[in-house]
Amino acid sequence: MAEKRDYYEVLGVEKSATDEEIKKAYRKKAIQYHPDKNPGDKEAEEKFKEAAEAYSVLSDKDKRAKYDRFGHAGLSGAAGGGFGGGGFSMDDIFSQFGDIFGGFGFGGFGGGRNRGTQQRVQRGGDMRIRVKLSLSEIVHGVEKTVKINKSVQCPDCHGRGAATEADLKVCETCNGTGMYTQVRQTILGAMQSTTTCPHCHGEGKVVVTPCRKCNGSGLIKQAEEITFKVPAGVAEGMQLTISGKGHAAKAGGVPGDLLVLIEEEKHPDLVRDENDLIYTLYISVADAINGCEAQIPSVDGKLKIKIEPGTQPGKMLRLRNKGIPDVNGYGTGDLLVFVQVWIPKKISKLEKEMVEKLGESDNFKVDPSDDDRTLFDRIKNMFR
Ligand SMILES: [Zn+2]
Ligand SMILES: [Zn+2]
Repeated sequence: MAEKRDYYEVLGVEKSATDEEIKKAYRKKAIQYHPDKNPGDKEAEEKFKEAAEAYSVLSDKDKRAKYDRFGHAGLSGAAGGGFGGGGFSMDDIFSQFGDIFGGFGFGGFGGGRNRGTQQRVQRGGDMRIRVKLSLSEIVHGVEKTVKINKSVQCPDCHGRGAATEADLKVCETCNGTGMYTQVRQTILGAMQSTTTCPHCHGEGKVVVTPCRKCNGSGLIKQAEEITFKVPAGVAEGMQLTISGKGHAAKAGGVPGDLLVLIEEEKHPDLVRDENDLIYTLYISVADAINGCEAQIPSVDGKLKIKIEPGTQPGKMLRLRNKGIPDVNGYGTGDLLVFVQVWIPKKISKLEKEMVEKLGESDNFKVDPSDDDRTLFDRIKNMFR
C-alpha cells in the first residue's frame, strides 16, 4: 500500500487553514472527483475517497489536533473515525458528507444510491393520434385498433445505436454523466449551472461506429397495430393516454405514451348537450290537437313516444337514461325531445275555410294556462 499523503496536501490547504477553508477545499475536490462526473474512473474514485478521509480528520477538532501532533500514526486504528482504519467506502462518504454537495447541480445525487450510474432515463417521444367516434361508440364505449408508424428499437443493435457493444463509448465531454457543468463569473461570484451535455445530448455515451440499419439512432420506424379501449361517455376534445405505447427510446430507456384525441362524428338527428341528447320533433297541427304516436331516433334505433292531445309547440319530453353515460360513471344523460308544431304555408281555399271555421270556435280562442306559459318561458330560456 502506498504511503499515505498528507491530509493538508490532499485538500490543498495550509496547515493554518480555518474550518471554513477546509470545508470549501473538500467540497471542491469532492465535486472534481465525484463519481457521477467520472463514471468508471478508478483513479478519480481513489482521489474522491482520499479527500473524504482527509476531510473527516481535518474537520474534527480532536482528530485534527492528534494528526497535527503525531501525523497519520496518531490516528491509526481509529483513522477516519470508525471507517475501519483504512479507506472509506463510497457509501460511508455519501452518508457522512452527502450534504456537502447541497446546492450543487448534481442531477439525482442522493445519499449514495445510484452513484456512478447513469441518472437520466431516456424516454421515447409521445405519439398523438385522433380517433373519430360515432355517437353509438361514445354511448357504449369501444375497442379501437389503429395502425401507427412509430419508432421502435432497432432489431440489429437492440436500440444501442452502435454496431457492437464496443462501439459505444463514454462521452468525454461529460464523462458519461450526460450533464454539463458550467461556471460563470457574476457579480455575486462564481455561479455554477448544469445543463444537458451538448455532445451526447444527455445520453452519457457516444456511438463510435454506428449500426448500419438505424444509422446510429438505435431506432427505426415501423408500422404497428395498437388496440385500446375507449370508455363510454368520452367527448370531443378529450385525450386518452395509452401508457407506454408511444415512440420507443434507445436501449435502457422507456417508451413514450400514445395520446388519443377524441373527435365526435355528427349524428344526423341528435345533438349532444353534455351527457344529454336533444331531438326536435315536428308534428302537424292536427296531431298537436288530437295527439299521436311519434318515432324518435335514438342511439339504439327508433323509440316510440306518445304525444298527448293538446300538446303545445315547444313542449319538452324527457326520455330518462336515453342519453350518454357519464365518462366518470356518474349516471346517464337523458334524451330530450322538443316538440315543434309545423304550420303549412300553402293551403287550399277549402282548407282556409275549414281553419277559419275552427278559429271561430270558442276552444280556439287564445287563452294560455299558467302551465303553457311555463313551457314557452322554457323555450325562451333555451334559446337565450
Ligand atoms: Zn441499429
Ligand atoms: Zn456528454
